[in-house]
Amino acid sequence: MRVRVPFGRRELVGVLIRALDESPVEPARLKSVLQILDREPVLSTSMLSLLQWAADYYHHPLGEVLKTALPSALRQGQGLAVKGLSVWSLTPAGTDVDLSQLNRAPLQRRILKALADTPTGLHGGQLAKISRGWAGAIRQLVAKGWVGVRESELSGGAISPAEPAPALTAAQNAAVDAIAASLNSFRAFLLHGVTGSGKTEVYLNVIARVLPQQRQALLLVPEIGLTPQLVARVRARFPISVAVLHSAISDKERLRAWLQARDAKAQIVLGTRSAVFTPMQSPGVIIVDEEHDTSYKQQEGFRYHARDIAVMRARRENIPIVLGSATPSLDSLRNATKGSYERLVLPDRTRTAALPAVHLLDLRRLALNNGLSPPLLEHIGKRLHRGEQSLLFLNRRGYAPIYMCHDCGWLAPCARCDGKLTFHKHRQRLRCHHCGADIVVPETCPDCNGVNLHALGEGTERIESVLVSLFPQARVVRIDRDSTRRKGALEEKLSQVDVGDADILVGTQMLSKGHDFPNVTLVGVLNADQGLYSADFRASEQLFQQIMQVSGRAGRGHKPGEVWVQTYHPDHQLFTALRCHDYDAFAQNALDERREAGYPPFAHFALLRAESPKTDAALTFVQFAHQLACSCSLNGVDVMDPLPSPMERRAGRYRAQLLLQATRRRPLHDFLNNWLPRLEAARASKRVRWSLDVDPMDMY
Ligand code: ADP
Ligand code: ZN
Ligand code: ZN
Repeated sequence: MRVRVPFGRRELVGVLIRALDESPVEPARLKSVLQILDREPVLSTSMLSLLQWAADYYHHPLGEVLKTALPSALRQGQGLAVKGLSVWSLTPAGTDVDLSQLNRAPLQRRILKALADTPTGLHGGQLAKISRGWAGAIRQLVAKGWVGVRESELSGGAISPAEPAPALTAAQNAAVDAIAASLNSFRAFLLHGVTGSGKTEVYLNVIARVLPQQRQALLLVPEIGLTPQLVARVRARFPISVAVLHSAISDKERLRAWLQARDAKAQIVLGTRSAVFTPMQSPGVIIVDEEHDTSYKQQEGFRYHARDIAVMRARRENIPIVLGSATPSLDSLRNATKGSYERLVLPDRTRTAALPAVHLLDLRRLALNNGLSPPLLEHIGKRLHRGEQSLLFLNRRGYAPIYMCHDCGWLAPCARCDGKLTFHKHRQRLRCHHCGADIVVPETCPDCNGVNLHALGEGTERIESVLVSLFPQARVVRIDRDSTRRKGALEEKLSQVDVGDADILVGTQMLSKGHDFPNVTLVGVLNADQGLYSADFRASEQLFQQIMQVSGRAGRGHKPGEVWVQTYHPDHQLFTALRCHDYDAFAQNALDERREAGYPPFAHFALLRAESPKTDAALTFVQFAHQLACSCSLNGVDVMDPLPSPMERRAGRYRAQLLLQATRRRPLHDFLNNWLPRLEAARASKRVRWSLDVDPMDMY
């Protein structure tokens, strides 16, 4: 239960997890709770014990773990009773208003117009899309008697009649049956289905088997903004309440969704990473879509992996869990080989006979036109001619990654990082993609005053402008973080592609996520070598997953697709596997390498990171931590050398790290339980900012 307590001079909301008869603290120094905020526990016993487990596993303070699990409205002490969602709509008087009366109040005018277009009314989240200042304008419209408000039971979208499901293929049926056969016990399934093989259809059918048992389904997705189609499909299939939780909803909407899930008013809970902590009265299945996606790992504060927590949660709730992907993580594949997970395979696409043909373009023999090879341009031209769409993938936003002086060789550096600034031509800015620094483009070289400044290399912005000039008749749509910053911009662009208002798509990894664009018949991968020789041992896995996912966007409709990959290393094993769509061959090879090197999933890592504005402070601290570790009992744990981080200076801070590894988890955790408290107690630990990352996903 939540309590309000005095804390220094402030009052804070805390969570009461246990009551004791005695305290080691002197009675005179104990303070009283000011108020008990809940009459019933805000977290169930099973949820609390899951969170306790997570706090232990990630060696993170329980308070912060609980904080992650509670919606912010509850953290601030708000009551558990929520009113329905307020929905505003026009009154009869409002429908007759002549809009020109509102010429001097443009916001009221826009809202009135929007309400006139939506007779069923709009809720706060929808009105906020019109303008942040919507609340004041609505109040005035209500005062004028033109707008009325009512409470609605439902969250978001209206309920529509269920959409009929297609008849399943044999492989889909087998998968659904296998999962449905263990609805009453824990079992982890790895659903490995090639792109377009109908994994989502399997999820929907499993959910359809769970709901009649009066149980709920939790469906986790990497990023909701990138998969609006999935949300729409779930809503269309099940005419029941779906609670949707992601970062872009308001605190009030989040609390509503959370309570609906907790009280089983919502039978389906759909959300991103932190939704794994959504309470459910009667959970029946957990599904993690695109389980390989790195966005399931929180990269700051409480660094949990939502997929791993989901598996633990399913185990404790004694229900099945389904991890789906066309490119499963090596960790999950290894679990399947060991027999901890049961692997289910969907080998074929549902709509077209074949996966796209993958071809390599050997860049050593081709002259590039701004990053584009002549054969690729020719293939794009053919698509334009046939009225089909092309998709070009380049995982680098901005116009050019380097801005340089031709006279003296100066490369525009970031003042606060060990990195270069990216040139953004449209905005005429130089930006750092590591710390967010953003400066005007200098007219002359700061070193030699020369005026011969050039942008070197390609980002998505340059590719877009090259395509526009080469194919003036084509409609080019760019999808990356810059072009989709405005709220609603991504949805607009995706629907432009859907309805055929686009001929060529250019974009970053945002394009590789679950989109289903049936008219895309050509995928071009512009710089496949990026990350091939990265210092990070997971880089090639992520590179392969991205290329395979983006290739999977080709030929999903009835027309066959083709993929052209530009590379300087056509003989690399990774591309050989890609050509045959042989994820298993790639994975087997990568797993062999990991085994040899003693890397995860054959070992377990914990990474201590430290940073400080002072030059050597972080390194000094990890050196101290290293010594301290060596003085602890190291049974089965290897302590690597303390090192500066691969990018030593970032956002004005110097960084260093210390890697710990062990072949078995238990000794690693025993060691951490011994070492961390001593590290925390040491004075050195107060001089830098530091954190521990259990199962780190990147080594930076
Ligand atoms: P995945 O998630 O594996 O990439 P989807 O579930 O998005 O694949 O399915 C790809 C397309 O095939 C979707 O448009 C879906 O409606 C369609 N589909 C899935 N299963 C079937 C089926 N059994 N029969 C016909 N079409 C199907
Ligand atoms: Zn110069
Ligand atoms: Zn920077």
